Amino acid sequence: MPDNPRTIADDVVVGLDYTLKLEDGRVVDSSAHGEPLEFLQGHGQIIPGLEKELYGMAVGDEKNVIVQPHEGYGERQGDAYQQFPRDAFPPDAGIEPGMAVQLVDQAGNPHMAFITEVNDDNVLLDLNHPLAGETLHFDVKIASLRQADEEELEHGHVH
Ligand code: ZN
Repeated sequence: MPDNPRTIADDVVVGLDYTLKLEDGRVVDSSAHGEPLEFLQGHGQIIPGLEKELYGMAVGDEKNVIVQPHEGYGERQGDAYQQFPRDAFPPDAGIEPGMAVQLVDQAGNPHMAFITEVNDDNVLLDLNHPLAGETLHFDVKIASLRQADEEELEHGHVH
């Protein structure tokens, strides 16, 4: 077995404990009550503004990282709401606000959209990510580091 890497570099599998807060201090996501988030560094698995700040960190290191929207979930695009009839979705899809769905535009390109509102007749989708336009404040702590195996590198994600 090769030794575990000592610091974060490309192709290292990182276990990350994190709390994500918005500008107003509201916590919107965190690993606090679960397992650390595992991802493959250098493969675009997490937002670019956070990934680039992690290089060189070691297990136990902590950091506060502030990510501007353009390196996070993007700027909000003005009016990006679209309404669809409820029956355009499978009846058993269990759709609820916050869920991501994939749309295909007329040119056949996939787009992610997020359910904003659901009623008996209609579903309102927002084509912006819910965190678009937000400045993100991450408190991170490195929980573990290991070298990715060959299959993980081939696939570009953690198994
Ligand atoms: Zn895979």
